[in-house]
Parts: sequence; C-alpha cells; structure tokens
Amino acid sequence: MAEAKGTLLVTGGAGYIGSHTVARLHEGGERVVVLDNLVFGHREALPAAGVTFVQGDMADAGLVERVFAEHKPEAVLHFAAFAYVGESVTDPLKYYRNNLAAPLVLLEAMQRHGCRRFIFSSTCATYGDPVRVPMNEEHPQAPVNPYGASKWMLERVLKDCDAAWGLKSVFLRYFNASGCDPEGRIGEDHDPETHLIPRILMAAKGEIEGLTIFGDDYPTPDGTCVRDYIHVCDLASAHEKALAHLRGGGGTTAVNLGTGRGFSVKEILRAAEQVTGVSIPVTYGPRRAGDPAELVCDPAKAKALLDWEAGHKDPRSHIESAWRWMTGPRGGRYGA
Ligand code: UDP
Repeated sequence: MAEAKGTLLVTGGAGYIGSHTVARLHEGGERVVVLDNLVFGHREALPAAGVTFVQGDMADAGLVERVFAEHKPEAVLHFAAFAYVGESVTDPLKYYRNNLAAPLVLLEAMQRHGCRRFIFSSTCATYGDPVRVPMNEEHPQAPVNPYGASKWMLERVLKDCDAAWGLKSVFLRYFNASGCDPEGRIGEDHDPETHLIPRILMAAKGEIEGLTIFGDDYPTPDGTCVRDYIHVCDLASAHEKALAHLRGGGGTTAVNLGTGRGFSVKEILRAAEQVTGVSIPVTYGPRRAGDPAELVCDPAKAKALLDWEAGHKDPRSHIESAWRWMTGPRGGRYGA
C-alpha cells in the first residue's frame, strides 16, 4: 500500500519560485504549510484558501519548533534565501547568515522530529566559472561569489546530515528562472528587480528608461552573455518530481534544472520586442562583475533520474507569461 502523503513545509513559499511551486503542490492535492518572513515574499502570491501560512523566520528556533510540533511535516522544500549576487559580494555575512546559518535551525528541527526529506533550491552559481558547457552535475564546484558559496556550503551540510542521521536531500541547481504562471495570477516581483526579462519588460512598459546590456564583447556569437532560461512552472514541476524521488526511497543527489538551450541577451531582447510589439531603447554598459560568458545546463540527469524535462523551451513563452503578469496583476498593484 502506498505511504499516505504527509504535510509539506515550504520555506520561502511566498517568493517567486516558491509561490509557483506552492500553487502546483496545492493543485495536486498536497497539504502545504508555508513559512515565510515576507521580507521578499508576498502574502497575496499564495492561494486564497487551503494553504496554511505562518509568517516568520526560519532562524527563529522557537517558531520553527512550534511549526514542527503542530504540523509534523513529512518533507521540507527550502526556497527561502537571499539571491542578489552583487549584494552578496559587498555584504557576505548577510548571505552566510541567511542562506547558510538560518537553515541550520530548520535542519536541527528536522533531526529532532525525524523529518528526513529535504528539497533544496540550489543554483548553477555553485559551479562558478564554467570549464565546459553544457554543464552537468559533475562539473567542478568553485563558486565565485558568496551567494553561490552559501548554497554550495549548504549542499555540503546536507550531505553530512545524510551521513550522520539519514537526511535525504535533492539539490535542485536552477539555471535562469524566468516566466510566470501562464494565467498571469502570480509572477516575478523583486524589489529591486535586476533580472534580464523583467527589466526588459519594465523598459517596454516605460517604467524604466531602457535596457542596459552589460557587455557586448564576450566570446559568444553576438558578443552578449548566453544563459539557459528555465520557466518557473517547469521548476515547480521538478519539485514535484524530486518529492516523488524522495518518497520512493531515493537518495541524496544533485540535479541541474535547465532546458539545455542557450540564448544571448540580444536574442532575448529581440524575442521580447516581438512579444510586446514595443521597440526597447538599449544602451551598452560595461560587463557586470561575476558574469560568465555562457551558462547552459545539461539536463540529462533530470530526465534519467526524475523523468523531468522542461516543457517551455522557447523563451518567448517565458516572456509572454511575464508580460501578461506585468500588464495584469503586477501592473495593477503598481498602479500603472
Ligand atoms: N543583463 C543585462 N542587463 C540587465 C540585466 C541582466 O545585460 O539589466 C544580463 C546579465 O549580464 C546576464 C543576463 O542578462 O548576462 C542574465 O542576467 P540575470 O540577472 O537575469 O540572471 P543571472 O544570469 O545573473 O542569474
């Protein structure tokens, strides 16, 4: 007989990737408790009913203990983290405190309560500068900024917890998350917004003057950086698959999440101009510190191990959904 499904604790469930995953888990009939301090998350990004919301910080040991005692989660999906690479360079302790130290409180509670399943939002930034492209999970991990290092160190902690007390984790190493819920109900809402696709769309809406392209002298076909843009709804479905892996008795493992296809900044810009019908003003600036020329995922392991592959391979679908959100709910919220 199949094991009954328990409650899922989702940290950072009101954030960008977390909220899309919560929506999918909820629609799939899972029982979900979200723990989010709303520093970057949005309460309204959660389903109106049927999901338990606890506002608070995962570093608050008393609160985390109460959540575990009350809800007895079967697994934790851990999204809560700071994710501004540049800020991590100027304020590394903020990143090590929030992305490395705070989850230890969560892990201690998991150990006490016998919760042995953990799905971790890791990142291709744990690899650092690519020595080969596309990158598979065996690529050397040599992060080049404190953000990537904080995620890489937590992966190490999780492996040690497996050795010591049998915690089973899946490290999902995301490439460039983008796009939104296709119906435009929830979306990407960072403050400040630094990511390419939302910046382009903000420029298309006239919220910012235009797009600055950070460097056009890279050794790539058109001189601009190449990235693997993975749709946030595909990330959400990968979390379901990772959960099934752990529920099926699967062990600790790392899995890259991307499409396997790279697109340059200029290609994304052209696609956005097609989708929006707006000609977007562009200026060229210097390279952004820490940007490798090309990051492209080898998604073979995700297919082989989790039976997962990206459904949205054309970035136009990411841009379309993001545009729907920007001109819909988000636009409404911002009064534009
Ligand atoms: N980028 C850019 N202008 C912007 C924002 C981003 O040229 O205003 C470039 C950035 O240098 C990188 C790519 O777009 O090559 C994707 O950047 P993003 O911040 O979206 O994701 P990252 O690769 O840093 O995770």
